[in-house]
Amino acid sequence: MLRLEAVSAYYGQVQALREVSLQVNAGEIVAVIGSNGAGKTTLMNAISGLVPVRSGEITLEGQPIVNLAPERIVRLGISQVPERRQVFSTMSVMDNLILGAYHRYRRESKETIHSDLGFVLEIFPRLKDRARQTAGTLSGGEQQMVALARAWMSRPKLLLMDEPSLGLAPLIVKEIFRVSSELRERGMTILLVEQNARAALDLADRAYVMESGQVALEGAAAELAVDERVRKAYLGGNSRP
Ligand code: ATP
Repeated sequence: MLRLEAVSAYYGQVQALREVSLQVNAGEIVAVIGSNGAGKTTLMNAISGLVPVRSGEITLEGQPIVNLAPERIVRLGISQVPERRQVFSTMSVMDNLILGAYHRYRRESKETIHSDLGFVLEIFPRLKDRARQTAGTLSGGEQQMVALARAWMSRPKLLLMDEPSLGLAPLIVKEIFRVSSELRERGMTILLVEQNARAALDLADRAYVMESGQVALEGAAAELAVDERVRKAYLGGNSRP
């Protein structure tokens, strides 16, 4: 589905990505973990066209997408749930969700879109209860749900999730991860960037560990969860995988 080969990106003189190669297969959840400043957000933004790539290749289903305009990348099927949520705060929850599907109204039936709307409200019962509430008045966790539900409403081929657990209470994090796993059941492919390594490795099929802009380790999530180096550096060193 998505392939990066030796992708490098800079902020001025500072190199934030160093020849990063990774791939995401259709139907997988792939996690990228790493500490603050490892380059995870830069990686997401390089894929979605928000950060320029200086060298390397990015392809979506074999088609080069590197350095295309972000709106073209969205149209090709990549949606990003950004790190700081960014819901349309003066609009209702329902309008946020409908806007997510905006580009679909021209080529798909209203029934299909409304059935997707029914589905997201079913998997996020909290949003159903708050459908008419102004999104800006929701809690942080609820706004994260809106951002995820809205991204899903655009029915992307690939969903990029940047730190969905950031600043959220454990129960809400659990809820977000449960829904992500349901979305995978519905055929969604997800690339997830997370500092909460334990939650990410529990959810993902495969994972990459980033350090200083490079891929330091990669493998099956279950294997990385018991890897000594990963446990020491990212899982607090205790033995529970
Ligand atoms: P975090 O988990 O803290 O969000 P991250 O792994 O997502 O970290 P990035 O935000 O990708 O890391 O940052 C990678 C490096 O690039 C860091 O050293 C950061 O200081 C630098 N950086 C990020 N954004 C900019 C920017 N707009 N201008 C200059 N340097 C930047």
